[in-house]
Formats: sequence, C-alpha cells, structure tokens
Amino acid sequence: MSEKKAEGPKTGFSRLMELAMTKKPLILSAMVLSVLASVASFVPYMSIYFIIRQVIGAVAGTPFDRDAAISYGVMAILGTLGQIVLYFAALMCSHLAAFGTLYQLKVEFATHLAKVPLGFHVLAGSGKLRKVMDENIEKIEGFIAHQLPDMTAAMVSPVVALILLFVFDWRFGLAVTFGLAIAVYMYISVYGNGSAREKMNQYQNALEDMNNASVEYIRGISVVKAFKQTVFSFRRLYATIKSYTEVIIPYTLGWEKSYSAAMAIVNNLYIFVLPVAALVTMLNPSAENASNALFYIIFAQAVGGVLVKAIYANGAMMQVDSHVAGMDAILAEKRIPVTSSPKSSNDCDIELSEVSFSYGKGVEALSGISFVAPQGKVTALVGPSGGGKSTIAHLIPRFFDVTKGAVAIGGVDIREMDPHKLMDMVSFVFQDVFLFKQSVMENIRMGNPSASDEDVIKAAKDAQCHEFIEKLPEGYKTVIGTKGAHLSGGERQRVAIARAIVKNCPIVVLDEATAFSDPENEHLIQKAFERLMQGKTVVMIAHRLSTVVGADKIIVVDSGTIVEQGTHEELLKKRGKYAQMWEAYTKTASWRMGVKGATA
Ligand code: ADP
Repeated sequence: MSEKKAEGPKTGFSRLMELAMTKKPLILSAMVLSVLASVASFVPYMSIYFIIRQVIGAVAGTPFDRDAAISYGVMAILGTLGQIVLYFAALMCSHLAAFGTLYQLKVEFATHLAKVPLGFHVLAGSGKLRKVMDENIEKIEGFIAHQLPDMTAAMVSPVVALILLFVFDWRFGLAVTFGLAIAVYMYISVYGNGSAREKMNQYQNALEDMNNASVEYIRGISVVKAFKQTVFSFRRLYATIKSYTEVIIPYTLGWEKSYSAAMAIVNNLYIFVLPVAALVTMLNPSAENASNALFYIIFAQAVGGVLVKAIYANGAMMQVDSHVAGMDAILAEKRIPVTSSPKSSNDCDIELSEVSFSYGKGVEALSGISFVAPQGKVTALVGPSGGGKSTIAHLIPRFFDVTKGAVAIGGVDIREMDPHKLMDMVSFVFQDVFLFKQSVMENIRMGNPSASDEDVIKAAKDAQCHEFIEKLPEGYKTVIGTKGAHLSGGERQRVAIARAIVKNCPIVVLDEATAFSDPENEHLIQKAFERLMQGKTVVMIAHRLSTVVGADKIIVVDSGTIVEQGTHEELLKKRGKYAQMWEAYTKTASWRMGVKGATA
C-alpha cells in the first residue's frame, strides 16, 4: 500500500472499501457470491409458498399434485444447499482478501512507526500503538472477512425480500412493510444521524485512553504499591475510567428504548400479518387467502432476519470506521523528513544555533539555544528540573526536529544527514532503559548486530555488568524477565551502557542516572559511564554537580534558555546561577557528611 493512500483524505465507508479493494478480484468475488447466496436463501420460502398452496388447496378439495410438491421440496433443498455453498465460497474469498489486507496493513503500520521521529514514541503511549496494531487492524480484517460480504448481501436482500413480499399478495406485503417501516424509523432515529457516528468515535476514544492509562498503571504498579497508593491515586487511570463512564452510560441509555423496540418488532413481524390475515380470511375465506396468510406469517420472520443482518452490518461498520480513523491518525503522523542529497560530516563538533523547540502549539520548551559541544570533549548540561536539559539532549539524535534554528554535527545540519548515518554517529543512554525479552547477550548486541560474543562480553565488562550477568541462571544466555532473571534499575542501566559501548559511536549523549541511591550501584554506573565516554564527544545531562567539575564545558539551562556557560572555575568566578547552585550543593554535601560523621 502506498504512503499516498494512507495520507489520503478518504474516510468512512470509502476508506474501508479502499482498504478492502487492495485485493480487488477476491473481494468482488466475495461480494457477488454473498449476494447470490442471499438470493438463494429465498428459494426455500418460495417452495414453502407453493407447498402450502398445494396442501390448503387439497384440504379445500383440489386434487393434490404429488409430483409438483416433491419438485418444490427438491427446489427448497437445492436452494438451501446453494445458499450454503455460495456463502462458504464467499467467505473463503473474503478471508483470503482480509488476511492479505491484514498483512499489508501491519507491514505498513510497522514500517511507518519506524519512520516517524523517535520522539513520537516518547510522546505517544505504547498502549495506544499496541491497540492500533493489535486491535484496530484485526477489527478491519474481521470486517473485510465477515461483515463486508454480509453487508453487500444486506443491501441486496431487502430489495429481493420487498419484491417477493408484493409478488404473492400485496395486502400481506403491505402489512409486513408497515412493520418494517416502523422498525427502520426507530433504528434510524438513533443510528441514522451524524451524532451517532460522533458518539461512537467518542466511545472509541474514551476506550483507547482508558487502555493507554491501564497499560501505564500496570507498568507502574510497583511504584503505586511501594507508596501504598490505590487506583484512585493514579489519577490518569481514574480520570480515563470516569470519562469512559461519562461517555458510555448516556450513549447506551440513548439508544436503549428505540433500539430494543426496533429489534423486538423486527423479530416479530408476523404480528403485523395476523390482523390482516384475520380480516382477509373473514371477508373472503378462500383457500388462496388462507395459504397466503400462513405463508406470510412464516415469511415475515425471514424478512425480519434480513433486516437484523443489515442492522448488525451497519453497527459493525460504524465501529470499524472509528478503528480505521484511529489507525489513519497514526499513519498520518508525519514521517521524519529525509533529505534526497545527504551530506556527511567530517568531524564531531556539535553545534546548536539559535534553537527553539516546542512540544505542541503551547509554550516553547527551548528558545534561542546556542552552544558548541566540541569534538572529543565533555559538555555537561546542568540546571533546575524542567529547564530543558532532556529536550536539548533529545534534539541531538533527532528525536524531534527543531522548531527554529539548527542542530549541526561537523558543520552539517542533522536534517541534511542520512538518518541512518546519524544513528551510526550518536549513541544515547537515557533514564528509561528498555530491555527486550531476549537473552542478555542479544540485548547488548542490539547496539551492534555484527558484534561477536567476545565483543559483547568485553563491553559488558567495561560497563561493569559482567559479574552480575555471570551470576544469572544461564549467564549471558539468560532471557531477561524469565526464571527470576529480573534486573535491578542500576543493572538495567549498566546493560544499556554496555549496549552503547558495543555500538561504539563517536558521539555519546547521556543522562546521568540518579534514581539508584545505593552507593555501590552509583559507583559502578559512574565507572561504566567513564568507560563509555573515553575518547568520545560527550553531551551529558548532569544531576549532581560533583560529576561536572571536570567537564570541559558546563552549560547552565533554565526556563528553556542558556543562562551561563564555561568551565567549573570560570562559572564560579562569575558568581551567577552556577555559583549559587554550587554553593547549595556543597552545603548539602557537607551536611550529609556531617550527618554521617555524627552517626559513625
Ligand atoms: P529537564 O530535563 O531540564 O528537567 P525537560 O527538557 O524535560 O527539562 O523539560 C523542558 C520543558 O519541556 C518543561 O517545561 C517540560 O514541562 C516540557 N516538556 C518536557 N517533555 C514534554 C512532553 N513530552 N510534552 C510536553 N512538554 C514537555
């Protein structure tokens, strides 16, 4: 499927058909076969009509034509068999088409996710992407496999049913049509207007939000429990459940009465035949009237069945519509622009010039940021929380594109570089480490698929992981997350560092970890970072000032701007923001030492 299609303006039924028509011959065959099956399904009723006429005629004195009755019976059997075979063939074709479309959509979606900026994955919850990948696309497959043939049949069957209703006896036909009209009116009064679609979308969105928050809640359950919190304290989940309730209850109550009434009528259409039958047979008690009355009581149920199918197909279409919209919204997410004439940089000086960045339409997270992180040197970003350090760090490996200004490596704007080359130049270790449910060996090798086992082990040793990996049940072959092989936060961080070491890029962007308070872990992580940084161009987010004293350059970031830059000594002399931070830091440090001394 082309990218153009994904970004096309088509919505609703036309978009669904566009998706289904990727396997045109199969889907058209499925539709035609399904219509033929539905026409065949009326054949037994016609046979019943003629058989009833024969039987009632015989009761009234006309000789019973045995051969004709048998041939009507055969016709009924053939009609039923025909319906079964045709419907089976229709479903075969539609399933083949649906699986083809499912495969294509999944490949397209996965390819697209790999081509959107990395920052999209930071901002979009993984719950939402999982839902679209698993649920939405599977629902589209289900729709093409089942509902699309049924829907085509549901469009044609009522026409055939209406013709038949009036062919045998228009008076009874009118009675059934009257009942049908009431049911259709009631159904349309709830589902026929634009707000029904809007409500269905609201329902789907609320469901999606709740799914997202549940995934987050389950992931963070250890934190929730550790702090003795309840689900109510996890506000986002609580809020999404509440808003789901606020959408679903009025939505359900809104169609409760009309929908139930419509279904009750549709399933009991014979009730409309009974008074007409009584009247007609009273006024003219002929065998023909009696057989027609009997036939219509039976046939009304078949017509009702046709309408029920149409109702279900419409409901399914509305639902799948919002699944398609959910998928298309992500497919419409802009891919990272790739230059057609990539430039390569000669050195690793990183330069941000007049960079501004905003996460959305709101406030700027960064404005007018300019600095150089020279090749082979360590540049530390410090400053208060929320100042913009992580945002700067994420702009260097192009998680996001700047809103204004430019980020350049070796004098080349990173937007003018081949994204793969950029990834080959930059390693990053941020705080949220993701490990795959694979062996430790493979998790580290992820940094460089061509690394040998020896390379991986060497990197693990450099990252201070070797010792704890050796103690795992199956050493490097232990699959993370199984057989009690759960790593601590500090260990996970060190595996991530090993991954970056094995990747061996000239530029390293890292976020100094602070979450691990035990000094042993902190010391090991520090050693691992030192090894990773050796001989590299480093941009480091520093949380403790002790680690930046030796940095070649310190950038002080506050409220999205650079307030100072220089070495530790230069900044202390300036007696500005950094000097204040340093003073506060040394006071706390000496207080800590004092406390330790007192307790020792
Ligand atoms: P620091 O790393 O210094 O703590 P950040 O770079 O994380 O600061 O944040 C800078 C600003 O950008 C803050 O105002 C923060 O609220 C905002 N911000 C950070 N991440 C996001 C995000 N994913 N969506 C919207 N705003 C964000």
